[in-house]
Amino acid sequence: MSVFGFVGLGNMGRPMAENLIKAGHDVRGYDVVDAIREQAAAAGITIADSANDAADGADVLITMLPKGEHVRAVLLAQDGPLTRLKPGGLVLDCSSIDVATSRDVHAAATEAGLLVLDAPVSGGVGGATAGTLTFMVGGSEAALAAAQPALDAMGSRIFHVGGAGAGQAVKACNQMVVGASLAATAEAFVLAEQLGLTPQSVFDVLSTSSGNTWALHNFTPRPGLVEGSAADNGYQAKFAAALLAKDLGLALSAAESAGVELVVGSSAKAQFDKLVAHDGSLDSSAVVKVIEVKS
Ligand code: NAD
Repeated sequence: MSVFGFVGLGNMGRPMAENLIKAGHDVRGYDVVDAIREQAAAAGITIADSANDAADGADVLITMLPKGEHVRAVLLAQDGPLTRLKPGGLVLDCSSIDVATSRDVHAAATEAGLLVLDAPVSGGVGGATAGTLTFMVGGSEAALAAAQPALDAMGSRIFHVGGAGAGQAVKACNQMVVGASLAATAEAFVLAEQLGLTPQSVFDVLSTSSGNTWALHNFTPRPGLVEGSAADNGYQAKFAAALLAKDLGLALSAAESAGVELVVGSSAKAQFDKLVAHDGSLDSSAVVKVIEVKS
C-alpha cells in the first residue's frame, strides 16, 4: 500500500482516485471546488484541506488538472506540494498540458530530489471508471518503475514514449485525431439528416462500416443512440468542449514550432472554438450544434 495525494477530482480525477482506493492504496484528495470535494468525499475519498496537505508525507502526488496554468499554480508554487512529498517520492502529472510546462515540472521535481513523469491519458470517463485508461508516459525508467502500481490500478495500457514531455507530445497528436474525427462525425450526422436520414440509421451504418470511429461511440452527437452518452443528458460534459479546444490548440502550437501544417486540425479547432464561444462547458459532442445549415 502507498499513500497518494491526488489534486483535481473532476470528471477524470475522481474515478481514477477511486480505483487507487480499490487497489488498496490510501488516497488524500483535493479540489478547489467545494461541490467536487463533497462528491469525492461521498465516493469514499479522504479530503485534504489543500494541495500541500494532500502531498504531505505522501509517496506519490497525482495531478489531474484542466490546463498547464493550473498545473503550474499547483506544482510550481513556492513552498508548494513538491516540498511536502516523502523524500524521493513520485510526481505523476496526468493532466493534458503543453510540453514546456511539463518540462518545467520535470525540472522542478528533479531539483527537489523527486521522481517525475508526465502521464496524460486516453479513454475518457468510461476508461477512468473502468480502470482501463491508456497512459502516455514521458520520463525516466526509474520513475516509471515507481509509478507502475499506480498506473496498473488506473489503466490497462502504458506506453513509455520518451523523456520529459514526450507523453504530452503524443497526447497532443492523439487529441488532434479525436477532435478531427469527432467534428467529421458530427458533420456526417447533420448532412445525413438534411438528406432525409434518421440519426439511428447513420449510427447503424457508420458503426459497422469504414466510417466507424472511437468518437462515434464515446462522443455520439445525437441522443438515443449510445446508452449514457452526454447527448442523452443534455450534453452535460464528460469531456468539456473547452478542454478539447485547449488540446487542439496544444497540437497546433506544437505543429507551428515543428513547422508542420495541420489543415484538418486547424478546421477542427475552428469548430470547437465556435462551440466554446457558445458554451465551452458543454460536452465536446455538442459540436453538432454549431454546424451550419444554410436553408
Ligand atoms: P474537470 O474540469 O472535470 O476536472 C479538473 C478539476 O481540477 C476540476 O474539478 C477543478 O475544480 C480542479 N482544479 C482546477 N484548478 C485546481 C487547483 N488549483 N487545485 C485543485 N483543483 C483544481 O476536467 P477533466 O475532464 O477531469 O480533465 C482533467 C484533465 O484530463 C484535462 O487536462 C483534460 O484535458 C484531460 N482529459 C480529460 C478526459 C475526459 O474525457 N474528461 C480524457 C482524457 C484526458
